Amino acid sequence: MSASLIMKDVKKVYGKGENEFAALKGINLDIKKGESIAIVGRSGSGKSTLMHILTGMDSPSTGDVTSEEVSIFSSSTDVWRGQNVGIVFQQFFLQSNNSVLENVLLPLKIQGVGRRERQDAALAALEQVGLSDKAKSKANDLSGGQKQRVAIARALVTNPQLLVADEPTGNLDTENGEAIAKLLFELNRKNGATLVMITHDEELAERCLRVVRLKDGEIISIRKGKSSGGKK
Ligand code: ADP
Repeated sequence: MSASLIMKDVKKVYGKGENEFAALKGINLDIKKGESIAIVGRSGSGKSTLMHILTGMDSPSTGDVTSEEVSIFSSSTDVWRGQNVGIVFQQFFLQSNNSVLENVLLPLKIQGVGRRERQDAALAALEQVGLSDKAKSKANDLSGGQKQRVAIARALVTNPQLLVADEPTGNLDTENGEAIAKLLFELNRKNGATLVMITHDEELAERCLRVVRLKDGEIISIRKGKSSGGKK
């Protein structure tokens, strides 16, 4: 299986002169199509910085990220991200006064997809996350677990090859967190989307095919998830 995303000697330095701080010190990582991968490490180890660069939300100081051998920074990174990446955040980031449906179809609206087509796609994504009956509800009226499902549906609606989840269960209780984790792994298996999960939750990380551990901006280990069972 060919690698779909490769980080090559990625370094990120914040600040200048005396305030210079190396947040990533040369990251090399091949993320293979369809796999699940957890990024773990203490607070400040560089997880968010890595995630921002991997998704093209920020550029590296040196080094590169390539998808199918083309740098994600070589042309319009925003377009690349819009077409290939779905991101789920700990804080959901929904438009709280808009309907669930409006929230989910937004990425397609931004891409200029027609009204009918984006509505159908949003309803299909809501069905995948088990929230068809909430399409017309105001996002703010949902529970935390439901909000995260909406955020996942919004991430899915463009049918991305890469699903990135930043502490997806961080704001949820155990039961809802488990339901969201199950859903993410199911989407990884069923849709074949590569899943990259940033998490503090060691148990959750072990369910990924590979666990990448960061320390002080460096990868200190890459190994198989103990509970992954060799499955994607
Ligand atoms: P993590 O997600 O593992 O907590 P981060 O990637 O957020 O780690 O941060 C890594 C290091 O880079 C931290 O020491 C943090 O203080 C620093 N850092 C992050 N963003 C900035 C920034 N915009 N300017 C300066 N330093 C930053």
